[in-house]
Amino acid sequence: MDPWLIAPSALVAGAAAMTAYGAVNPRSQLFGPVISGTGAAKKLALTFDDGPNPAITPKLLELLAKHKAPATFFLVGKFVRECPALVKEIAAQGHVLGNHTETHPNLFFCGPRETREELQRCTEAIEQIVWARPRWFRPPFGFRSPWLGEILLQQGLTNVTWSLIPGDWRRKPANWLIERMKPVAAHAHANLSKKNSSFASGDILCLHDGDYTHLNADREITLRALEYWLPRWRDLGLEFVTMSEIVRKAVEP
Ligand SMILES: [Zn+2]
Repeated sequence: MDPWLIAPSALVAGAAAMTAYGAVNPRSQLFGPVISGTGAAKKLALTFDDGPNPAITPKLLELLAKHKAPATFFLVGKFVRECPALVKEIAAQGHVLGNHTETHPNLFFCGPRETREELQRCTEAIEQIVWARPRWFRPPFGFRSPWLGEILLQQGLTNVTWSLIPGDWRRKPANWLIERMKPVAAHAHANLSKKNSSFASGDILCLHDGDYTHLNADREITLRALEYWLPRWRDLGLEFVTMSEIVRKAVEP
């Protein structure tokens, strides 16, 4: 077959695959800089998306306080407006607040104007409650777009994805989730046993205390799995860090 005949379609397919990779791969830097690790083997960043959620977030705060584990909460603007006292409480307990858009759309299908508004409205909702603008942003579903990087820069936000996303939104027993979170300990074992672990990155773990479709979602299995792992992670020598404590950008290959 004449290679010139197949070349254009192969090119289009290649470009589409590249775009899809850049849009959703948590480590892809194609659509702007992304933080997907903590940059230090000992540091574990716990992150919670889709809250605040009155049914779960207060219990989660209690659990995190018990284990002295600061975390980062990527909040949905529409829920922030409905639960201002809870947002205030999250911040008062030393956790970091991040922007997770106003309505949780897939940004890959949002134009620049809609994207700008989604980010801006969530930032305003948070700012009105805690008098500080969020610095961190997590894209809903992990999806990014070619114009997101520039908009984040304009709004003073840094993109944060994850190194591990166990899928705690699924209707599964807590033991299933506990098993799915095992890689954190496995990575810690592997990294901390190396002579020079300063170049190995710790995990950014993506969990959910809410459901972007409605308030008061059931996320009990997330609490159960954390009850199991938090003391074990600390025994392993891991330190819990918020995004603000991550100083070095971990850019994965
Ligand atoms: Zn989300």
